[in-house]
Amino acid sequence: MASTSCCSGHEVSTAHLGEAVSSAGTSVNPANHGAASPATATADTLIVGAISTGNPAAPTAQAMAISGGVIIGIGSEADVAGLITATTKTIKPEGTVIPGLIEPHMHIWTSMITLPWVDLSHEVCATFDDVVGALKAAAAKTPAGQYVMGKLFDPSLYAGEPNLTRAILDQAVPNNPVLVMNASMHYLYANSAAFEAVGVTDQTMDPPGGSFGRVDGKLNGVVGEAPAELMMLAKLPKPTQAQVAAGVLEILNACAAQGVTSVREAATGTLAGVAEYSILHQINGAARLPVRVSTAQFAAIPNKTPAQVAAEWKAAGVTPFSGDEMVRADAWKVVTDGSNQGRSGYFLQPYLGEDNGGHANWTPETLHDAITAGLDDGWQIMVHTNGDAAVEFALGAMEEILPGYGTNDLRHRFEHVSFTTDDQLARLAKAGISPSFLMNHVYYWGAAFRDTILGSARAQRLDRVASAYAAGLRPSLHSDYNVTKVHPLQSARTAVLRQLQADGSVLNPAECATVAQALDAITTNAAWQIHADDRGSLEVGKRADYAVVSADPWTSDPAGWADITVNETYIDGTLAYQA
Ligand SMILES: [Zn+2]
Repeated sequence: MASTSCCSGHEVSTAHLGEAVSSAGTSVNPANHGAASPATATADTLIVGAISTGNPAAPTAQAMAISGGVIIGIGSEADVAGLITATTKTIKPEGTVIPGLIEPHMHIWTSMITLPWVDLSHEVCATFDDVVGALKAAAAKTPAGQYVMGKLFDPSLYAGEPNLTRAILDQAVPNNPVLVMNASMHYLYANSAAFEAVGVTDQTMDPPGGSFGRVDGKLNGVVGEAPAELMMLAKLPKPTQAQVAAGVLEILNACAAQGVTSVREAATGTLAGVAEYSILHQINGAARLPVRVSTAQFAAIPNKTPAQVAAEWKAAGVTPFSGDEMVRADAWKVVTDGSNQGRSGYFLQPYLGEDNGGHANWTPETLHDAITAGLDDGWQIMVHTNGDAAVEFALGAMEEILPGYGTNDLRHRFEHVSFTTDDQLARLAKAGISPSFLMNHVYYWGAAFRDTILGSARAQRLDRVASAYAAGLRPSLHSDYNVTKVHPLQSARTAVLRQLQADGSVLNPAECATVAQALDAITTNAAWQIHADDRGSLEVGKRADYAVVSADPWTSDPAGWADITVNETYIDGTLAYQA
């Protein structure tokens, strides 16, 4: 694959992905594996068995006829008999055939670099002492001076919400630079050696949109938001080209193992600019990816304005809906606030027992510029809004800006939209902006929001799926991997049950989704949100993207959805994953 002169302007890029960037550069070479229309009027493949279509007009079928990767008939065996010839191959899957699930917001790149890091999640480290112990153990196995890295640490799940301060990290690991990523990815914790390694001192200015936490003017070790986090990650050992490819495939295979056939990468370009997109095409060129990837280009790159970032994508020929059927550039991503469990989500009222109500990452002027930089080039806009004030801030901006861009419905989205008012949901519908909920906020953090972070009254307003539907919206559900695991059926279970992991109680039963609403949110709605109208359900004319699973979610108890196993997934009718 050709490599162009790419690297001189990409110091930030090579800082994180090294030689993989040099090899991919900004040369985008789609592989075009799949046919976009049926090859013939007769079936090359016939699926016979239990089929749950996800199409409410015809929810079940016994046979599905495929030609050139496209569904050309679905219904009873008699319905498709006319499409069968002597050369049609018949497959009888072991399990129920369902539409391939759609994961509309996850992160490949920031997750990929953390794959080998020490897992400090609450599931693995039951106490804060366990977190510190795991770091000490990792340091004991790491030569002095080399990085010790941790991920998925979440103080909000421990009593007293202990921070991993510079002082604690210096004491636990005195001889190595240490960096620990918060589960939300909105915070990074560093010891003195990690600051020294990248030359960040008490005197270093905060970059726009990021912060180095300080107490009495001295760095306290808590680093907030991507622009500051990326400065801290600049001296990490770079993965090799082979490690990058293996990491991407490991992540996408884990998606396929949950029945997923399409994902939206929700911050493309954060670590390596256009190279992230061209690397995906490069890997897909070597062998078809196990999952289709739709990308959202990230607006906030250190030392660049959003308009400059947009110009780089355009200069590389990456325009809206360009690419191929496996890797396609679709959207423009703006993040307006932080993490609610990290108390940097932006709220109309302060956090429980505090004066602090979080803050916006942008001023009204810079947010306007960040959004219009995407709209000017025709991108679908995805805006991360976590707290209710962030929703208000971003919604106000969109209401002001969108009328100037005509009637072109790009299906703009708000991400997480974790806390909303009735008025905001109604205005989202009016503005044509659909929500995507990080549904397992309820399962994992619902009790923390209720008991310590926001209080019971506000916690009821977390992830209002039922109200979103009632407002006429088409919500989807996402994992925000690696904030939570890619597991759409678990998210859908949470949408129906709203049960809390901490105590099994139900958080606001009035917001429970119906079975159909929850499953639409991980299939047809999510497909619609990523502009994949040829996917999301099994219907004539759509692509034959499907999974073979142990039980039909449309007819089985939602309490068991997370335990449904996936035997196989198929893309364009050909095997993409096998358990
Ligand atoms: Zn995200």
